[in-house]
Amino acid sequence: MPSPSSGTPDFQPDPPSIPLQQLSAQEWYEWQLRIEAANQNNLLHHCRQCDREWVSSQAESCTCGSVRIERIACWQFPDG
Ligand SMILES: [Zn+2]
Repeated sequence: MPSPSSGTPDFQPDPPSIPLQQLSAQEWYEWQLRIEAANQNNLLHHCRQCDREWVSSQAESCTCGSVRIERIACWQFPDG
């Protein structure tokens, strides 16, 4: 005895369209330059010797005379 079955149509939602931000080569190059400039202008210095921290636009040695300085670009962490 055949039973007519109305097959349930497969529900296929439209895939979300994800807008991709595509930078042109020129924009990417300028972005790199900007990061590099920010990197050089804002370096957080951290002395491993005396634990002193300061910000300088250029690589400096600590006032304690230590050259074991950890330098972190300020753009790498959000400004509190
Ligand atoms: Zn120091």
